[in-house]
Amino acid sequence: MSDDVRNLIIIGSGPSGYTAAIYAARANLEPLVFEGSVTAGGALMTTTDVENFPGYPDGIMGPELMDKLRAQAERFGAELVTDDVTSVDLTGDVKTVTLDDGTTYRARAVVLAMGSGYRKLGVEGEDRLSGHGVSWCATCDGFFFREQNIIVVGGGDSALEEATFLTRFASKVTMVVRRDELRGSKIMQDRALANEKIHIEWNSAVSEIIGDDKLEAVTLTDTVSGETRRLDATGLFIAIGHDPRSELLTGQVDLDDEGYVLVAAGSTATNLTGVFAAGDLVDHTYRQAITAAGTGCAAALDAERYLADID
Ligand code: FAD
Repeated sequence: MSDDVRNLIIIGSGPSGYTAAIYAARANLEPLVFEGSVTAGGALMTTTDVENFPGYPDGIMGPELMDKLRAQAERFGAELVTDDVTSVDLTGDVKTVTLDDGTTYRARAVVLAMGSGYRKLGVEGEDRLSGHGVSWCATCDGFFFREQNIIVVGGGDSALEEATFLTRFASKVTMVVRRDELRGSKIMQDRALANEKIHIEWNSAVSEIIGDDKLEAVTLTDTVSGETRRLDATGLFIAIGHDPRSELLTGQVDLDDEGYVLVAAGSTATNLTGVFAAGDLVDHTYRQAITAAGTGCAAALDAERYLADID
């Protein structure tokens, strides 16, 4: 165990974690940031063009944006460690964070910014073509698919919402639904079914994503007969849900039914004093880089005020 008790530990390195680090470092809190080992930099490391982050009129590649946020945090003295936090004890006045090798760090305040993972299909071609026709976010990427044929996978509310939104750009949207019915709310179903650009492939699952360096088609498997067929498309949106990365927190920090961290209204404070949460770990609704950065800023300011109050 390191002897010193730090001011602030930040767990997570997406837009929320790095923004919290920039603010905390500029407030002289000398934050220690655990970035994660495999996915350091967060969700935008897996994408190409980001055209909706303010300040980049020509767009910016996701990894380049994350490198810039990281460099900005480092410039002001944030200490960055590319390791995973594997357990935490956040209940006392001094919080403890432990890594895989057993090393332990302590701090008086913690910002949780571990994000959420988009559920994947787990089929051939999915990772390779991510950002090259395969997407998990219509708000982020719909604009790139004007007058194109798009497939949306999923039958719940988020798939219906994504499909309906994408008809603003696409010439045709095909929803791939595993069963012979939709799961989403009646109002979202009615809206989608009434939209003449939306077609539904019932009892179907995407079993393969085809394309060399950009999406060309998918293989659909009939979930009843097992037969396969090819469906051509230049865009594929996977809308089968998200999983907040909150396993570490179970039994300590209050979570909602889906595992998202609960914070007090108008704040980033969790149920535990000195523990704040930001970004997609908290956010069901917006899930954007700029909103994650915004709540990361708020978490750093909340932590700063908390530390000032207890000094
Ligand atoms: P994340 O970016 O998910 O970062 C959290 C990170 O914390 C993890 O990746 C990991 O490195 C780290 N971490 C997690 N657990 C631990 C642990 N136990 N120990 C240490 N570190 C840990 N948004 C836009 O605004 N515009 C876009 O164009 C856009 N395109 C997207 C394209 C793709 C393919 C995806 C997947 C998302 C896209 N988004 C886009 C959404 C955006 O990326 C997210 O809303 C945003 O990254 C959320 O930021 P975050 O900081 O909350 O979490």
